[in-house]
Amino acid sequence: MRIDLHTHSRASDGTDSPAELVRAAARAGLDVLAITDHDTAAGWPDAQAVADEVGVTLVPGMEISTHHRGRSVHLLAYLPDPTYPPLADELARVLDGRAARVPRMVTRLNGLGIDITEDDVRRASAGAVASGRPHVADALVTLGVVADRSEAFDRYLAWGRPAHVDRYAVPLETAIRAVAGAGGVSVIAHPWGRGGLGRPDEQTLVGLQEIGLAGIEVDHQDHDLETRDVLRSMARDLGLVATGASDYHGVGKADHELGCNTTDPAELERLLAAAAEASARSGRPTPRLTSGRATGTA
Ligand code: AMP
Ligand code: FE
Ligand code: FE
Ligand code: ZN
Repeated sequence: MRIDLHTHSRASDGTDSPAELVRAAARAGLDVLAITDHDTAAGWPDAQAVADEVGVTLVPGMEISTHHRGRSVHLLAYLPDPTYPPLADELARVLDGRAARVPRMVTRLNGLGIDITEDDVRRASAGAVASGRPHVADALVTLGVVADRSEAFDRYLAWGRPAHVDRYAVPLETAIRAVAGAGGVSVIAHPWGRGGLGRPDEQTLVGLQEIGLAGIEVDHQDHDLETRDVLRSMARDLGLVATGASDYHGVGKADHELGCNTTDPAELERLLAAAAEASARSGRPTPRLTSGRATGTA
């Protein structure tokens, strides 16, 4: 049983369409796949249709842009009802902030003498509901300004670089409560990596757990082996679910191939049980979860 709980499609900054993502997951031999685009559930229906067809179990999710104590923190949310108003309102704010940031980044780049337009970025982000810096990076690649996304971040788009522009992110506690209220469960993505909590102390995690945090992502490419060991034992001590995932972005992120890290089936069971509890408590429906068909090969 191979389970990958963190992947991106073209609904945000991945390079596969949601349908292509699920087909790629089947080819990679995954049994369970979570689609977790940044700040949107837009990819769910197309992904679900292909999951039914190829017999992959799809876990609908998203990766919410949050902040905590001055740091940007990515929060994975699984099985929330995305129409629950407190969650939907926060996601709308983030998406508005993302859209408003594009012209400001373009202006910054123009100020650096780079001839890029909003249309160039729109072309690069065709199909995306959540536009982001990776789309600006892709536009810069198309224009021949940089060789790849990494160079675009290193030279222009990363924090502290000249075309970096901030945008709205949800306070972490607000996001955890909104996900719980929406009948879903939350897991802190790559807690010790980029867009993470930094080295998390147990007290912080306990506080977040009290308001509904269900788990932490342990096995992720941003974490070296020693970090994974520390996080795994923290999860065990606190009773948090420990997940593992690729954070696949198609060709948009090197060394994040589908299934390069996976989640233990027992940990997924605990996560799904917590989601069922949250759904019962909140009265919000759990988005449909297909059971992958054992018959037929994709
Ligand atoms: P945004 O959400 O628009 O602020 O952009 C953040 C996204 O950019 C992350 O989710 C990553 O997928 C991507 N990213 C961040 N840093 C890099 C980098 N150095 N190289 C490639 N992609 C990056
Ligand atoms: Fe991303
Ligand atoms: Fe992330
Ligand atoms: Zn991600």
